[in-house]
Amino acid sequence: MPELPDLEVLAENLNKNTAGKKIKKVAVIKENPVLPLTPTEFVAAVEGKIIKSVKRVGKQQLFTFDDGKTLLLHLMIHGELHYMKEKELLPAYTVAAFYFVDKKVLVFKDHTQWLKLRFDTRGESVMDPLAPEFTLQFFRKLIQDMPKNAVKDILLNQEKITGIGSAYADEICYNAKIRPQTVAGGLEEKNIKILFHSTVDTLKTAIKQIRKKIKGKITGEHSGDFSVHGKKKGRCPLTHKLETVSVAGRGTEYCPKCQK
Ligand SMILES: [Zn+2]
Repeated sequence: MPELPDLEVLAENLNKNTAGKKIKKVAVIKENPVLPLTPTEFVAAVEGKIIKSVKRVGKQQLFTFDDGKTLLLHLMIHGELHYMKEKELLPAYTVAAFYFVDKKVLVFKDHTQWLKLRFDTRGESVMDPLAPEFTLQFFRKLIQDMPKNAVKDILLNQEKITGIGSAYADEICYNAKIRPQTVAGGLEEKNIKILFHSTVDTLKTAIKQIRKKIKGKITGEHSGDFSVHGKKKGRCPLTHKLETVSVAGRGTEYCPKCQK
């Protein structure tokens, strides 16, 4: 599943590739993604519009059209985008496609058809860890409200903070030098502060790394350079041997030497 840093860079690259372009034709191949509209209604709402901008809102991509209407794209777990030439064959499992006047096509693909394209823009009320509203004060309260939960469990709580998955939760904990299984109630104020800054910094660093890696592409899932996550039986950047445990039901890597 894409996490917040991938989605942030995806929004930037979607904006670079499609902003200012007119959609001359829309194909809706599977109707699930455009519900509750019918394919005909969806086509009518998008065809002929110019994309003014694309930006990330939580885990969704927000397309603003020249008529002021906004369309939300949620890739869900398996959704993918492709940006290709009109003369190329649409990939398997394409659910919808926007054809631009410059003969480029934005393809929405999902074998599960869970991907969502919605004009209903009642936003998520969940906190975005890159928004200015994500403050130490907010974070402290979050920690204090769930004193019995593991730190990683709180970072993963999608009803409280959006877009942090298992990978970045492990990285945030590593960068904070705090073990992911640490019970929140036991955190001292200075550690809450460190964890808060690590959350923001880890995500921002990953965005920079992904931006560099994919250079404007919109295809595929990408990640930053992980220090501990996914390095099973591996070593931390200081070459200590990592441990793998289960926290919040998720495979978790941490360094017993660097993290207390
Ligand atoms: Zn270490």
